[in-house]
Amino acid sequence: MNKKRVLITGAAGFLGSHLCDKFIDEGFSVLAMDNLITGDLKNIEHLFKREDFEFYHHDVSKFVHVAGKLDYILHFASPASPIDYLKIPIQTLKVGSLGTHNLLGLAKEKNARILIASTSEVYGDPLEHPQNEDYYGNVNTIGPRGVYDEAKRFQESITMAYHRFHGIETRIVRIFNTYGPRMRLNDGRVIPAFIGQALRGEDLTVFGNGLQTRSFCFVDDQVEGIYKLLFSDYSNPVNIGNPHEITIKDFAEEIIKLTQTNQKVVYRPLPKDDPMQRQPDITRAKEILNWEPKVKRSEGMKITYEYFKGLSKEELQKKEH
Ligand code: NAD
Ligand code: UDP
Repeated sequence: MNKKRVLITGAAGFLGSHLCDKFIDEGFSVLAMDNLITGDLKNIEHLFKREDFEFYHHDVSKFVHVAGKLDYILHFASPASPIDYLKIPIQTLKVGSLGTHNLLGLAKEKNARILIASTSEVYGDPLEHPQNEDYYGNVNTIGPRGVYDEAKRFQESITMAYHRFHGIETRIVRIFNTYGPRMRLNDGRVIPAFIGQALRGEDLTVFGNGLQTRSFCFVDDQVEGIYKLLFSDYSNPVNIGNPHEITIKDFAEEIIKLTQTNQKVVYRPLPKDDPMQRQPDITRAKEILNWEPKVKRSEGMKITYEYFKGLSKEELQKKEH
C-alpha cells in the first residue's frame, strides 16, 4: 500500500513523539527528525522496529535533505521551555528562523503541505484577555524570552510569505500550555517542576506572587486539534488550547492534593517578562475545526502524575539546572 508520508521535526520531544504515535495510528509513514538537544530517543524507541517509521538525527537549522516523496511536514523542532531557551538562545532563534526557512523550502520542493508549531508566546505578556488570533501581542523583543517569542513571530511571517508568494499550503497552530506524559521532568515548566518537587519531597516553588494565570491543555486534545488543523483548508493561525484558566498559586495547591504530599508552597522571584495572564479564545478552532478540548484538568493531571511516578529514582533526582 502506498502510504502518505509525513516528516515530523522535533519528533523525540514531548509533542513531536505524541504526533508520531498519532500519525502511525492513522496509517501514515513517519519520518522523524530531531537533533536531541532537548528531546530523548526514549520517547519514540517503541516505534523503531516498525517499517513505517524512520528516524533521522539532524539539526534542521542546517540544510535539510530528504530522499523520496513527502506529503506533509510538521515542524515542531524548537526548545519550548523557558529554561531551555534561556540556556540555548541562539539555537532557539536559529531553529525558528533558519530551520523554518529550510523546511518551507523542502515543502516547496516536495509540494508538501506544512504545519508549523507556533505558540501563545507570540502574544507576549498580553494586554487583551482572553487572546484571540487577531491580537497582535505585546512582546519585549530584547528581553530574555524575546529569543523564543520573536523566533516564533518570524516563523509565522515567513510561513505566510511562502504561502502568499510561492503558493505552498501552510497551516499555523498557536499552541497554548500543553502537558502530559513524556514531558521532561527537569525541563523547568511548571507541571513537571511541581510534580518533580512533590515526588522528591521538596517544597513547591511558585514564582512571583502566584497570581499569574495559565490554561493547561492535555496532550491528547492538543494532538487532535493539530491533526484537524492539518487537514482543514485554513491557512491563518489557529489557537489550540484549553480555556480553563487557573492561577499558579491555586495550581500548586491542586498538585499538593493530587500527590497527597505535605509539601509547602514557597515563593521565588518572578522571571523577567513572565506573562501575567494567558487564556486562549478558541472560537476559531470551534468554528473551523469543530474542535474543543475534552479532557478535564483533573483527569489529565492524574494520567500525567502516574507517568512521572513510573520514572526511576535516578531520573527523578536528575537535575540539569
Ligand atoms: P520539547 O523540547 O519536548 O521538544 C522539542 C524537540 O525539538 C526536542 O526533541 C528537540 O531535541 C528538538 N529540536 C530542537 N531544536 C532542534 C533542531 N535545531 N533540529 C532538530 N531538532 C531540534 O518541546 P515540546 O513541548 O514538545 O514543543 C514542541 C513544539 O511545540 C515547539 O516548537 C514548541 O515551541 C511548540 N509549543 C509547545 C508548547 C507546549 O506547551 N508544549 C506550547 C507552545 C508551543
Ligand atoms: N512557574 C512557577 N514555578 C516553577 C515553574 C514555573 O511558579 O517552578 C510559573 C512560571 O513563572 C509561569 C507559569 O508557572 O508563570 C508557567 O510556566 P511554564 O514555564 O510552565 O510556562 P510558560 O511561562 O511558558 O507559560
